[in-house]
Amino acid sequence: MNEEQKKFLELAKKNKKVNKKMFTRLARKKNLDTHFHSMHEELFEKIDCLTCANCCRTTSPIWRDVDIDRISKHLNLRPSEFTTKYLHMDEDNDWVLNQSPCAFLNLDDNKCSIYEYRPKACREYPHTDRKNMTQILDLTFRNTLVCPAVAEMAEKLKALGE
Ligand code: SF4
Ligand code: SF4
Repeated sequence: MNEEQKKFLELAKKNKKVNKKMFTRLARKKNLDTHFHSMHEELFEKIDCLTCANCCRTTSPIWRDVDIDRISKHLNLRPSEFTTKYLHMDEDNDWVLNQSPCAFLNLDDNKCSIYEYRPKACREYPHTDRKNMTQILDLTFRNTLVCPAVAEMAEKLKALGE
């Protein structure tokens, strides 16, 4: 992770309480999707995720059955063999990784060894270009502590007086 990415994650950790309150207020904000989508576009134009990979190192995506079927097939495993080897069910009955960092992350170059086949949740992370952002504000707040881009979005929202 580069210095700028570290700086934003440290800020998010330091400002955790203030950010939590701000994200609660955001539920009432008009045009919330437009704000998030424009920040997402601006930030992901400059961020190189290969210098970071903090999502793959520290959290698990949710693996849908279609993800498991596709990736098992690619790895020449039966879905049951795949889940036994790599996944477990969490308290919400979602399939998640057994370990962090993800077993498919190459720790030397931050590349995903199943990139073309990766779960939908990986492709869409950190979900800040999604419709109806009001529905995932809790998740987005938690992601300020994982993803430097989301941490930077929190700072930008604060600068807007949110
Ligand atoms: S499957 Fe690939 S993109 Fe998804 S968490 Fe693992 S390494 Fe990251
Ligand atoms: S999505 Fe966020 S946490 Fe994941 S690699 Fe990119 S900047 Fe890092």
